Amino acid sequence: MHNSVQRYKDIISSIDRKIEEQKIQLTPKVIAVSKTFKIESIFPLIEYGHLDYGENKVQEAIDKWSAIKFRYKNIKLHLIGKLQTNKVKNAIKIFDFIHSLDSMKLAKKIADEQKKQDKNLKLFIQVNIGNEEQKSGVKIDQIDDLITFSKQLNLNIIGLMCIPPANREADKYFKEIKLLNKKFNLPEISMGMSSDYLKAVENSSTYLRIGSSIFGQRS
Ligand SMILES: *Cc1c(COP(=O)(O)O)cnc(C)c1O
Repeated sequence: MHNSVQRYKDIISSIDRKIEEQKIQLTPKVIAVSKTFKIESIFPLIEYGHLDYGENKVQEAIDKWSAIKFRYKNIKLHLIGKLQTNKVKNAIKIFDFIHSLDSMKLAKKIADEQKKQDKNLKLFIQVNIGNEEQKSGVKIDQIDDLITFSKQLNLNIIGLMCIPPANREADKYFKEIKLLNKKFNLPEISMGMSSDYLKAVENSSTYLRIGSSIFGQRS
């Protein structure tokens, strides 16, 4: 068996064990974050039957996935990186989920493009949970307004997404997102990466974004 498939299976087992241990009701989905990896490296996992993949650049996703998505109709692509308004058109073409909605301007652009393309993607609002200068995402006190605005545009907001500050215990931030998700009555949560996905499972994450633990270190 290919290394990436073996590592993927080990991750799924670790999630199942955690769920069993903590009596967690819902099994989270794993998004295999394939950014920077060539399609040949991803292919064993596609063949194995995994369906959710994450990319952080629109053009890379178009180049890499257009043909594959045409052939494997059940594959879902998740945009997990920053989205510039001038890339929205292409993003709507190739992606099924966007995890990085972070402004009204972007919401408006997505709504306009979706109308043109007759699409309705599933969207996460990215929250700058550590209130960090350089990080993308809305501040906590801006979530309410962005949800209201997005709903007026008929956008399908399914949950909140976060990337906790590096080198700090993620648990506290995951708990905060969990509470916020509940407050806004949203069904999904996008949090947890290679280093902290089991902590995210404990905090009711429904979409884990796991890259290097499956595909290896990115160069
Ligand atoms: C790259 C990336 C991941 C995956 O990170 P790993 O540490 O390789 O699991 C998850 N989320 C986002 C937003 C990313 O950019």
